[in-house]
Amino acid sequence: NHTIALIQSNVPVQKKKLNGTVGFHFLPNQVHRKSIKKGFQFSIMIVGESGLGKSTLINTLFNAPIAPTRESPKEATNTDSSKAVEINSFTSDIEENGVKLKLTVIDTPGFGDFINNAEAHKPILRSIEERYEHYLEQESRVARKNMVDSRIHACIYFIAPTGHSLKQLDVVFMKELGAKVNLIPVIAKSDLLTDAETKAFKERILEDIKANHIQIYYPAVHDNDDPETVQEIKEIASRIPFAVIGSNQTYEHPPGSGKHIRGRKYPWGLIQVDNEAHCDFIKLRQMLIRSHMEELKEQTLEVLYENHRSQKLVEGFGSPTKNPAKFEEEKRAHETKMAKMESEMKLMFQQKILAEEKKLKQAEEGMYARHREMKNQLEQQRLDLEERKKRLLGGNSASSFNNRGGTPTQKKVVGVAAAG
Ligand code: GDP
Repeated sequence: NHTIALIQSNVPVQKKKLNGTVGFHFLPNQVHRKSIKKGFQFSIMIVGESGLGKSTLINTLFNAPIAPTRESPKEATNTDSSKAVEINSFTSDIEENGVKLKLTVIDTPGFGDFINNAEAHKPILRSIEERYEHYLEQESRVARKNMVDSRIHACIYFIAPTGHSLKQLDVVFMKELGAKVNLIPVIAKSDLLTDAETKAFKERILEDIKANHIQIYYPAVHDNDDPETVQEIKEIASRIPFAVIGSNQTYEHPPGSGKHIRGRKYPWGLIQVDNEAHCDFIKLRQMLIRSHMEELKEQTLEVLYENHRSQKLVEGFGSPTKNPAKFEEEKRAHETKMAKMESEMKLMFQQKILAEEKKLKQAEEGMYARHREMKNQLEQQRLDLEERKKRLLGGNSASSFNNRGGTPTQKKVVGVAAAG
């Protein structure tokens, strides 16, 4: 197949005109119908300190009570952050205009809530990698039906609205996780910052991201995108990191109008979740749900997972370039093992030859012994015959010869010859 692919890749592709309708222009509809029937699946992880509004934002995004909110954040009791971070996931089946979505939300309570948070990213990284491993393991099975895919398609990282810069905790997490998952940084509870503070904070965050070589998800512009789509993508990208507001409450706005609006109410007015002048919630939702859900999935499966998979394969085979010292050590151990096996095989071979030689010698000795015995028997027969000949020539009668029952001496000779 590989050869065929190589040959075919050299064949120039020619554009041909159809003479009439064939019907494969329905292909996108077929795929679409199948997806509609099967439903879509999306897994999203939320990470950030307790009380930053992670659950509220998920519920605001999907307009449903998907994640339980904690009105009062948990107190830190454990000082070992690597053990205290939990990974909880909830799956919901949601439907909009006949389109089904199986949404899995992976919450990470405990992240950043401890006195020492140096290891807080580790259980999350492990969880993401274990999901890749689980898929990889299923892929390498002979029977690959009913594979369970728990890979995470996007990770929303909540930055506390301090207005200063990224904390060490944020930098470590984003640096470690950016290459493993589609990382979407958001400024949590942005209603607590003024517009000017939000703008300056965003700039600082982007500087920190660049300075620390942190990889985050940016919606990509493709060659075949129309100008309108390109503009839309640029607008979304320009809002990163998204300053968000979450709220499960609606208020009548303006009062007495009968119009209910999601937001957070302050003595000076209503901050609206769905108002682009108030926050970036709309743009985040557009990217995550409306325009880039499929691309986030593709990026996960085709880039992030593939990177993980090829890395695992290289580690499996051992690479001389990645860790030369380890490679040399493994090579030496392998050579010692092979030399030991070779000497063991030589010894075994020699022992077998000796045993065979002994057997042959025994057989040879047996043959000689039989040969000697036969020779002795023949000599004895010869002597007997000589003796009888002498007796016959010495005056015995012919009748007495017949009376002895035929030719016994002859018989005996035949018998010996047959035995030989
Ligand atoms: P989690 O622990 O990160 O999941 O946080 P929750 O979603 O449980 O929210 C914790 C508290 O913050 C609750 O009292 C929410 O009402 C409040 N909250 C959530 N989102 C926002 C927001 O955008 N702005 C403000 N000011 N408060 C919020």
